[in-house]
Amino acid sequence: MSSTRVVSSRWGPVRSLLVLAPLFVLGPFLAYKSQYALPEPVIDLVNNDTSLPQISEAQILSHAKYLSEDIGYRTVGTLEHALGDLWVHMHALELQSKCEEVVKASPGRKLECEVWRQVGDGNHRFDIMGKRLYKTYKGLTNIIVRISDGTPEGKENAVLVNSHVDSTLPSPGAADDALSVGVMLECIRVLVHTPDWEPTHAIIFLFNNAEESLQDGSHLYSTQHPTAKTVRAAINLEAAGTTGPELLFQATSEQMIQAYSKVPRPFGTVVANEIFSSGIMMSDTDFRQFELYLNVTGLDMAVVGNSYLYHTRLDLVENIEPGVAQHMADNTLALLLYLSSAESPLPSLTEGYSKPATVFFHALSHFWVYSFQTAKVLYGASLVFTIIVVRATFVPPAPALRQGRGIISENLRGVFALSVGILGALIGANVVAFVMRSVLNKGMSWFSVEFSCLALFGPAALGGALASQLLVGNVREQTIFSSLTILHAFLASGLQLINVGSSVVFFLSGLPLTLALLLNSFVSKPGDDMSLLSYALGQLVPLTTGAQIVYQVLDVFVPLTGRMGEQAPGDHIVATIVAITGAYALPLVIPFAHRIPRRVLARAVLFPTMVTAVAMAIFAMLRSNICTSLLRMVHLRSTFLHMKLLKSSVCLIHPLQSLSPWMIGMAIGISCIHFRRSSLRTSWIFLSIQSLQALRNTTSVYQPSMTLSIQ
Ligand SMILES: [Zn+2]
Repeated sequence: MSSTRVVSSRWGPVRSLLVLAPLFVLGPFLAYKSQYALPEPVIDLVNNDTSLPQISEAQILSHAKYLSEDIGYRTVGTLEHALGDLWVHMHALELQSKCEEVVKASPGRKLECEVWRQVGDGNHRFDIMGKRLYKTYKGLTNIIVRISDGTPEGKENAVLVNSHVDSTLPSPGAADDALSVGVMLECIRVLVHTPDWEPTHAIIFLFNNAEESLQDGSHLYSTQHPTAKTVRAAINLEAAGTTGPELLFQATSEQMIQAYSKVPRPFGTVVANEIFSSGIMMSDTDFRQFELYLNVTGLDMAVVGNSYLYHTRLDLVENIEPGVAQHMADNTLALLLYLSSAESPLPSLTEGYSKPATVFFHALSHFWVYSFQTAKVLYGASLVFTIIVVRATFVPPAPALRQGRGIISENLRGVFALSVGILGALIGANVVAFVMRSVLNKGMSWFSVEFSCLALFGPAALGGALASQLLVGNVREQTIFSSLTILHAFLASGLQLINVGSSVVFFLSGLPLTLALLLNSFVSKPGDDMSLLSYALGQLVPLTTGAQIVYQVLDVFVPLTGRMGEQAPGDHIVATIVAITGAYALPLVIPFAHRIPRRVLARAVLFPTMVTAVAMAIFAMLRSNICTSLLRMVHLRSTFLHMKLLKSSVCLIHPLQSLSPWMIGMAIGISCIHFRRSSLRTSWIFLSIQSLQALRNTTSVYQPSMTLSIQ
């Protein structure tokens, strides 16, 4: 027996996995730590060492608390909404007088703060979930603050930063969006009080008073305010959750992505950008109005962690994680400092929106930005390099025998085994989803803890992937390893050719896989097992990158399935996400399955199967608890329901005499349709509470009104 055989028997599957185990624990752990890292919250308004003003999280949260708890629900048309408007206006005027004091104290400083309270009527078309809506609003307001150097040239090209003061029904809206209102007020304070700071380009702060009513406030500003035509870029601050760093999920020009690279803690990737722009999130922000009516590019950012509390009664300051406000405000301030400076790209941003063609991501403590053109060259070169390595390291199977196959047919077999593996993972996870949902009637039992779905669907996907390899037949371990490198390099290159920026994930995983294959030819003999070192090197990047993708995707999609309504196949959506992201994060499972003898593989399938059975039993028992917590969370069933709710509340809140007979007809028609739908039962409970409150609070002083029709 050869010495090779001795080595491979010494490193059996269990021992090999034990050697690699630290990697499987540390990789996802470190990815988790870096994913959710937040800055230390600052309390003092002024830095004691430098005596310079600084962003204070305490100050931001006190603003958010006042708006969300002292004032309360700020649903458009209510007294609370009017109080919110008044409070922001007072603050803006106060900051303006501080600004004037500061300028008086240092004559010659080029700084001007202007404040507007915009009041207006308007109407617009709003397309949502395949429906075309027409909105009419009357007497809506916005508060606008412009900081400039006071010259016409300084006001010619401005950056707009936006947040909304109103909140949706039934939410006090602490994170969504009082937090952002606080961030903007705090940025104004710090900028004005920073000695000698003078903006070359103006900053316009828009505190818009109606976002939740389908973006009327931003429409009003964009179409009617005198400063709107000077806006060259927009920054939108939002929240759909209460924890974790603020995510950049829409970035629509290379210049603005470059601007974002200046922030102290960037958090956003082209992957999130493309997922959002695909429309599957079923959500939308004021950013749409700025794109449509100002024709500008910009950055859309939101707090997205723990999205369960989004649009619920629990969107309170006490549930906002420490560091969230600091992160958002530090990044926003850095953006505003850069965009208002002499180096700003604002004057060049006159082209308006075009499809983004920039890759960006954060890795190795650096924010990487490059064009699609660069990506095509880079990934193409990587594909060529991979093909050379695969060719150079190829050892013909059984060269002494005549049935030895060529490199192409060998690698095609490898790609086939990998494809079957991914299919197996998908089937494994979805069979569990089917049994839980349709057979045991215990669907969505993973819902209340974001990552718990990994425990239910993860082992099932693994079991499916391993079992599928029993059907594939014998393929050499090294063949599958090399096919994997080709597959990743090919996906990176091919997807980038059709302008999918997310292909970067395959570039990031493919390159180390290729290097691992190359390394193997140095550390092990031809025909020997792949070295464990190659497994470690090849697995590290997919594992950490994959873990980050898993966290981000589950953070957003798990709570989202709760808002999709009962008809949506939430179990299958999440099972599929777990299988696909798992296949990306653990690509070397398939070559490993062919490293071990088939009888061992057959036994190995039993392990994840048993874990799956136990997990299913536990999740089936958890169901009742989760049901209760689900109810407590008071989720609105879906965006569409939310929209209907909004429409209904508008009809009740606002005096019918302000509507045209045609509008009244439409409103009655819509209400009739609503009543027929049993899904509205729960919403009417909220509606009646809110309507009573609204009717009680309606005053003659402040009565903006809205109508909505559907086509
Ligand atoms: Zn919002």
